[in-house]
Amino acid sequence: MIISKMLGERIKTVPSDAQNKGHINLLRAGYIKQVANGIYSLLPPAKLAINKIENIMREEMNKIGGQEVLMPVVMPRELWEESGRYTSIGDEMARFKDRTNHDMLLGMTHEEAAVHLARNIVTSYSQLPFMIYQIQTKFRDEPRARGGLIRVREFTMKDGYSFHETQADLNAYYDKVLDSYMRIFKRIGMRNYVAVASDTGMMGGSGAHEFMLLNPIGEDTIVLCPNCDYKANMEVATCKIDIYNTEVKELKEVETGDAKTIDEVGKLLNVDSKGTCKAVCYADKKDDKKRIVVFIRGDLEVNESKLKKVVGCEIYPLNISPDDSILHAGNIGPYNLGSDKNMIVVYDKSIENEGNEVVGANKPNYHFINFNAKRDLPNATFVDVAKVPAYGKCEFCGETLTTSRGVEIGNIFKLGTKYTETMNMKVLNKEGKTFNPIMGCYGIGVGRALGCVAEESSDDKGLVWPMTITPFEVYLAPLSINKEEVKTKADEIYKQMLDNNIEVLYDDRNVSTGCKFADSELMGMPIRVCISPRTLENQSAEITMRATGEKTDVKLVDLIAFLKQTIQTELDKLNK
Ligand SMILES: [Zn+2]
Repeated sequence: MIISKMLGERIKTVPSDAQNKGHINLLRAGYIKQVANGIYSLLPPAKLAINKIENIMREEMNKIGGQEVLMPVVMPRELWEESGRYTSIGDEMARFKDRTNHDMLLGMTHEEAAVHLARNIVTSYSQLPFMIYQIQTKFRDEPRARGGLIRVREFTMKDGYSFHETQADLNAYYDKVLDSYMRIFKRIGMRNYVAVASDTGMMGGSGAHEFMLLNPIGEDTIVLCPNCDYKANMEVATCKIDIYNTEVKELKEVETGDAKTIDEVGKLLNVDSKGTCKAVCYADKKDDKKRIVVFIRGDLEVNESKLKKVVGCEIYPLNISPDDSILHAGNIGPYNLGSDKNMIVVYDKSIENEGNEVVGANKPNYHFINFNAKRDLPNATFVDVAKVPAYGKCEFCGETLTTSRGVEIGNIFKLGTKYTETMNMKVLNKEGKTFNPIMGCYGIGVGRALGCVAEESSDDKGLVWPMTITPFEVYLAPLSINKEEVKTKADEIYKQMLDNNIEVLYDDRNVSTGCKFADSELMGMPIRVCISPRTLENQSAEITMRATGEKTDVKLVDLIAFLKQTIQTELDKLNK
């Protein structure tokens, strides 16, 4: 491609709405253009890179037996009513009426369409297992679109759906997809990524992994063990916490006056927050009469994702009214707490084996000391709803856990029969009895993948594309192109490159050396080939590698062979 004809312009100033360097560089280098909040057009170089990412995904999906299909963006309400998601999904799903006043929606995921596609075709166990996938546009009305292509509203996804007769078969296939995803991320040139166990969220199901790019711009927190293989999203991460006090003393009520917070009570009684048990209160989002009281060791925080799973509803922090007959803010405790049919009490595991804890006495101005959960709550069940603290230790090896920020770059779920049951997909087994196939689903955002590679592979000059997804392998930069001999030679080299299937961007503009070099660095092509009156004196070209800055002079007669080999070496590093 010739740069003077290529749509898109390089800009010097940093757009004000862009914060992360990948986003800034994609905008500055003329790759993307915002149309509306979270909605972008891709300019030619971005589309070329996206095509390569999609092809890598196709190759890897095909290798594990995937069959490419294309399901619609627009679906009727009825299909999503079958699964129950027409109503269970909120405003993030775009709904509209067609000309006959029929309710329609824009797909944000395609489980319903996948089951619809398969259920009338697959009738026998002998047709299982199979996996279908597509690369399709989706729309999710994100409240917080940000980061350029990282979090958008309209996006392209590679999503796949597999169908199995047995859980064991799904489990085995799921592991294959997991490996396949790791290969995809390696091949597109991501470096610092991990697969972590995750929450199944709105998809439902029995097991899930998220693939995370570990990067400071991430919105998720990933808990990692520096010693063993344990990694998990903070939403589901677990840990071991050292027991603080195991002494057993007699439960005693003490006057604590106005001291209400853990800090205040701790100071008054000279007890560390680890020696206290606090109450954290929530209400059900759909039914604010339903209250949830969590008792947890004073130094820990409640992990709301875990709590939501335990209580089975969406929650929000509860403001306790001053005339509440049971809950006395600042003095709520697990012992002698009054009961209320609308109240759910949750005891976190962190208090199970502690002794001598300070707890609220459920009346103003008083606390208990020496509370011992095992002794004083003989019927309680303890569950894990605690957030991993900075000093949390690995449950498997005992090492202190660390955390990192992460951007979700893909996810895979063991869906089970949630969709095949609700949508009545039945298949006959060997014995002629019907069963609902067990599903897995697998997604990767294509644009987000590009945004993430841009984020991870940017330096202060611009983008640094891996060879596997670069829009062009070579940036051809002839200097002093106004000189006839340079122009003629450059045209000739450009044609040779095209004839040899080298993907090249030809900077044919009559601009300064500084401008050509700055643009080539900003746009991020892996190899720059520079010719000038000086190099032509030696019948050579100067090659500069974008990633390392390494320079080599190559004779023009050897140029094509040199480029082909360099390109192949770079491709092999990622593909093999
Ligand atoms: Zn460990």
